Amino acid sequence: ARTAGPVPPPPRSPPERRRRGRAEPPQRSAGPPSPDPARKIQSQQKNAKKQAEQKKKQGHDQKAAAKAALIYTCTVCRTQMPDPKTFKQHFESKHPKTPLPPELADVQA
Ligand SMILES: [Zn+2]
Repeated sequence: ARTAGPVPPPPRSPPERRRRGRAEPPQRSAGPPSPDPARKIQSQQKNAKKQAEQKKKQGHDQKAAAKAALIYTCTVCRTQMPDPKTFKQHFESKHPKTPLPPELADVQA
């Protein structure tokens, strides 16, 4: 009966398509608002991190300063060096044509 039936139920498919079409736009419109809360959360997390870091710095100021001073990253090739002398020597030998960064100007190698 089905194969011979020349009249399948056509009225069902058009309404479904319309429903789907209607359902799509709300989903799209619901998409854009979501990034805003995410950004808020990220910024909040960043603020929390900063505050935590500041607290840590206040507690271990000398340690943090010493640790920060121990790591010098070459501005040209990104090589990390433990002290400014090494950094300056590296810079002068590897990048003689590049002007010294100001932080190395007063370093005596
Ligand atoms: Zn370098």
